[in-house]
Amino acid sequence: MSNIYDVLVIGSGPGGYVAAIRAAQLGLNTACVDKWKNSKDKTVYGGTCLNVGCIPSKALLESSYNYERATHHFAAHGVLVDNVTVDLAVMQKRKEKIVNTLVSGIDGLFKKNKITALKGSATIASIGDICEVTITENGTTETVQAKNLIIATGSVPRSIPPAPIDNKNIVDNEGALAFDSLPKKLGVIGAGVIGLELGSVWNRLGSDVRVLEALPDFLAAADTDIAKEAGKLFKKQGLAIETGATVTQAKNTGKQVAVKWEKNGETHSETFDKLIVAVGRAPYTDGLNADGAGLAMERGFITVDEQCRTRFANVFAIGDVVRGPMLAHKAEDEGSMVAELIAGQKPEIEYDCIPWVIYTHPEIAWVGKTEQELNAAGIDYRKGAFPFLANGRARGLGETDGMVKMLAAADDDRILGVHILGAGASDLIAEGVLAMEMGAASEDIARTCHAHPTLAEAFREAALAVDKRAIHI
Ligand code: FAD
Ligand code: NAD
Repeated sequence: MSNIYDVLVIGSGPGGYVAAIRAAQLGLNTACVDKWKNSKDKTVYGGTCLNVGCIPSKALLESSYNYERATHHFAAHGVLVDNVTVDLAVMQKRKEKIVNTLVSGIDGLFKKNKITALKGSATIASIGDICEVTITENGTTETVQAKNLIIATGSVPRSIPPAPIDNKNIVDNEGALAFDSLPKKLGVIGAGVIGLELGSVWNRLGSDVRVLEALPDFLAAADTDIAKEAGKLFKKQGLAIETGATVTQAKNTGKQVAVKWEKNGETHSETFDKLIVAVGRAPYTDGLNADGAGLAMERGFITVDEQCRTRFANVFAIGDVVRGPMLAHKAEDEGSMVAELIAGQKPEIEYDCIPWVIYTHPEIAWVGKTEQELNAAGIDYRKGAFPFLANGRARGLGETDGMVKMLAAADDDRILGVHILGAGASDLIAEGVLAMEMGAASEDIARTCHAHPTLAEAFREAALAVDKRAIHI
């Protein structure tokens, strides 16, 4: 127990590993601990995002979309392919290789930055000028001391009593990313981000997918115009989305799952080969002793201020375990911010400028306020929208679904929100985020030259449309 670290980071997901790297870059003697074990019982860094979240889901989304293109879209290009089949084992191996490469990349980054990588389950023993944390691994416990703690313990899937997860037939994200055969009939509870992304993967590969959503509105967090249009497109793709559906029972019958739900006072039932439960995620602090160590908690989240400070000046918490959207890039930004605060810098995060992306096809991406939020807040705005149907590049790509919609303040034209439904929305939204971070007006975008032919021209046209002077519609 001789070494006193400047910073100990608990958790190595995108929040924790970025915090550790930034702290080390700033000359702080840093350690990071994680307890995640992979299927070979090896401790791996990278958290939910790298192991069972963002990365494996995007790998399968890409593979399944390639199959979808080959079977449904190539012919329109005059590219004729016969007998296209799926080798799911190869697809899963490719996904695993990507995960393993990125996960071992974190080991490399820790070494490069001289971060001490610790293995085991961390429990906060005491908080003071010097904090003490015990780390237990394979029955052995050691105590580590640090001047500052960064808690980045992430989140876990929520479950609901009628559908207990067994990760065989009733699965969470981890199980849903690892199917070794195609479920003929797939049920999904929750039409949120995971439900739509993983529902899309298996739907593209040939599963008959039904999504059961409790709320009456589809994608209530997205801009209404975008959610409506997306709902229509997903229906056309074969995703059967039932809103206002309350699941009352999910019974594992051995080989299948018998599900009952209520909608408009009527009881419905269907039997699925697999059922994915994707009803949100809960902050994770099991075994950490956050409460016992004196940290304030709220609904399971560790309470922090805008700068991720807890009630102790030298203890910070970041990422999914604190308020705000459960997104990898939000966790990363908070990780950098707290490392810089510890090093005496004065960083801050513009929380209104954190983008959301849903990696369906077409993709959905947004930043800032929706039209319904502006209306509810009584803020006057002007809006401009431009459909990809009128964009030359989108025509060439055969990706004409969707639109870019921009909302700007009625008084000073400042951009208040950007909402995109369309191919490449995940990359296009970066321009909206930058514009909002820089306090740009829609007129700034309207006067910025955009390369032709690109999808980004639709972004400029939406800005022109705010002033009713779009060129191509
Ligand atoms: P996590 O990544 O959850 O990491 C927490 C780490 O802490 C874990 O490794 C855990 O083992 C460790 N830990 C916990 N307690 C202890 C302890 N006591 N001792 C030691 N270690 C501990 N977000 C996006 O932005 N884009 C996406 O495309 C996206 N896709 C997703 C897809 C899926 C299927 C899922 C489930 C999530 C997705 N997310 C996505 C969300 C994203 O994964 C999370 O927001 C992100 O991982 C949060 O990072 P974090 O560092 O806060 O926590
Ligand atoms: P979510 O909050 O996105 O969606 C959950 C959905 O389930 C909601 O629509 C909710 O109304 C519904 N629901 C809740 N209880 C229900 C019930 N009993 N019956 C039927 N429906 C019910 O949650 P998620 O899809 O589980 O994803 C968790 C989080 O992970 C996301 O909020 C997001 O932060 C993160 N994530 C992000 C991405 C991305 O950025 N692309 C991808 C996947 C996950």
